[in-house]
Amino acid sequence: MDITDLLTPHDVLKKYFGYDNFRPYQEEIINSIITGNDIFTVMHTGSGKSLCYQIPAILLPGTCLVISPLIALMQDQVDSVRQLGIKAAFLNSMSLPGDALGIERSAISGDLDLLYVAPERLMTDGFLAFLKTIKISLFAIDEAHCVSQWGHDFRPEYLRLGILSEMFPDIPRIALTATADEFTRKDIIEKLQLENARYFLSGLDRPNISYTVEAKNNEKSQLLSLIRDRHPGEPGIVYCTTRNKTDEIAEFLRKNEIPAYSYHAGLDRNTRLKHQNIFLQGDGIVIVATIAFGMGINKPDIRYIAHLNLPKTLENYYQETGRAGRDGEPAEAFMIYGLQDVAVLQQMIDTSEGEEEFKRIQYRKMDAMLGYCESGHCRRQVLLGYFGEKLETPCGNCDICINGIETIDGTLIAQKALSCAFRTGQMFGMNYLIDVLLGKSIERIRNFGHDQLSVYGIGKELSALEWRSVFRQLVAARFLKVDMANKGGLRLTSQCRPVLTGKEKFLLRKERVVNAKRRDSKKTPIGRSGVLGQSSGPGVYHAELFERLKTTRYELARKQSLPAYVIFHNSTLAEFATFLPDSLKEMRNIIGVGQTKLEKYGEIFLEIIREYKQENNLYQDD
Ligand code: ADP
Ligand code: ZN
Repeated sequence: MDITDLLTPHDVLKKYFGYDNFRPYQEEIINSIITGNDIFTVMHTGSGKSLCYQIPAILLPGTCLVISPLIALMQDQVDSVRQLGIKAAFLNSMSLPGDALGIERSAISGDLDLLYVAPERLMTDGFLAFLKTIKISLFAIDEAHCVSQWGHDFRPEYLRLGILSEMFPDIPRIALTATADEFTRKDIIEKLQLENARYFLSGLDRPNISYTVEAKNNEKSQLLSLIRDRHPGEPGIVYCTTRNKTDEIAEFLRKNEIPAYSYHAGLDRNTRLKHQNIFLQGDGIVIVATIAFGMGINKPDIRYIAHLNLPKTLENYYQETGRAGRDGEPAEAFMIYGLQDVAVLQQMIDTSEGEEEFKRIQYRKMDAMLGYCESGHCRRQVLLGYFGEKLETPCGNCDICINGIETIDGTLIAQKALSCAFRTGQMFGMNYLIDVLLGKSIERIRNFGHDQLSVYGIGKELSALEWRSVFRQLVAARFLKVDMANKGGLRLTSQCRPVLTGKEKFLLRKERVVNAKRRDSKKTPIGRSGVLGQSSGPGVYHAELFERLKTTRYELARKQSLPAYVIFHNSTLAEFATFLPDSLKEMRNIIGVGQTKLEKYGEIFLEIIREYKQENNLYQDD
C-alpha cells in the first residue's frame, strides 16, 4: 500500500505545499477528480489552479499527464514541484532521446507523479501507444483556451486532444484556463468533449491589481515615472509590440539605472533564456518584452505590468496583466496608448489571412479594448462586464475610481472634429486635422487649399493635446474609423449621424490630469502579519532580517540555478522575519513551508534567524 493512500487532500496541502487552507474551489475540484469526474474550470491567474491537479496526482496511483503549450517553461514548472518533493518530469521537443527513455521507464515502473508534455508530442502514435502501457491517473489540459479559435492563442495541435476521451474513457480529465469569454468557454467544452464535466467558474476579479490607462504623450518619460515614483526596485514586465522597440526601451531604462532586459523571438534561445532567468532569479529586474514572454511565468511577486501599446483584445490584456501580484499583494496594471496603436491594430486585422467572420470578431474585440481605454466607468466594472461578470459597485482601485472623471457636453466639439474630417476629404490623419482645426499656418494646408474651408481655425478653444483626446474618443465611439486603405485617414461612419445632425448628445470625457502621487508608495514588505511599524513585542517585522534571509535565499537559488521564489516566497520570508521561528517545529507552522522544504532548507534559515536574534538580544524577551 502506498503511503499516500492514508492522506487526505488537506494532508497533502499541508505536507507538500505547507498551506493551511484551500482556496475557493480547490478542495471541491480535487475531491471531484478523485471520485472520477471530468472538470472544466475557469479560474483567474494566481488562484491556484495547478494545485487542483497536482494534489490528485500525488493521491491517485499512476502518473498525471499535464498537457501544456509552454515548452520553454516546463523546466521551471518541474523544478518548482520537485522542490516540494513531488516526482515530476517533462517531455518536449527539447528533451534528448536518452532522457526521454529514462523518463518513460520511471513512468512504467509507477515512479512518476507528474509528467508534463507538449501537445504535439502527446499526439504522436508512438507516444499514445506508450501511454497505453502505463497507469495514468489523470489528464490535465492546461491553457485550455488554446483549443478554441475564438480564444486568443489558438494552437491547432490542441484540437486533437478531443480524442483522449475516446481513447481513455475511464481516466478523468481536467481542463483549465484563466481567460475565456462565454463563446470561447462553449467552444472549449465542445472541442474537448467535456459535456459531462463538472464546471467551475470562479470569479475573475483580481482585487489587488490596480488598473490605470493614460493617453500617450511621451511614453518613455511616462514609463520612467511609473517605475521611479511607484515601483522603484520592484520586478515588473513592460510589454511592447515590436522587437526593436523592446530593445530600445530596455536600453533606455538601463541608461536610467533601472536593471532591464529585453525578451523577444528575435533573440537567440540562449539570450532569451538568460534574460528570463535573470528576471526570475534576480531582485527588482524589469523585463521589456513582446507578448512572446510571460505565458506560464509563475513569479509570484511581479508588482506591475506596463503596456506601451494597445493589446489586441481584452482577453490578451487580462491575461497579461494577470501576471502581476499573484502573491495577492498590491500590484498595478498600467497602460499608455495612442491613436497610432489603433491604426496598427486595424491594419493587422485587415491584412490577416483570416476569413471575414474571423476579422469581424477581431474588430469586435478591438472595439471592446478601445471602449475599455476610453470609458468613463470604473475599469474593473468594464473588464469584468466584458467577461460576463457583474461588479455591483465601482472598485475604488482604478484610475477612474481614484481620480474621478468629468464629462462635458461635447456635441459641438464632436461636430467640429467630424466636419473637419469630412470637409478635408476623409483622407487625413489626426494630426493634420488638428492643425486645420487650430488654424495653423502650414504650407501643406495651404497647398490643399484647406485654409479656405469653414472648418479652418474653428477649434482654437482646445489645445492640440485636448483635440487628440477628442479624436481618440470619437474613434472609440466608432464615429470615426481609421481607413488603412487610404493611408490611415480618418473616415466618418454611419454611426456618427445622430451627433452630426444634433439629434443626440455626445458626452466627452475631459482629459485626466494624472496625479502620480495618488498611491502612497509605502514600501512595506509583504506578509500577512500586518503588524509593521511597531518597535518591540512579538509579531514585529524585522526588515534587516528579511534582507538577510533574501540574501541566503538568493545564494541557495543561484547554486541550484533555480528562481528564488521556488525556494520560498517573499511572503514566507516575511513571516520568518516576523515570527522568528526558533525550531523546525515552529517553522513548520509558517505558510509556504512544507515537509520537503523544511528538511532541505529549514536549518539553513533557522541559523540566520538565531544569529539575528542573538545579535539583537531578542532571546531575553521570552
Ligand atoms: P494559477 O495556475 O491559477 O495561475 P498557481 O497554481 O500558480 O496559480 O498558484 C498561484 C500561487 O498561489 C502559487 O504560488 C501557489 O503556491 C499559491 N497557492 C495555491 N494554492 C494555495 C493555497 N491553498 N494556499 C496558499 N497559497 C496557495
Ligand atoms: Zn474602479
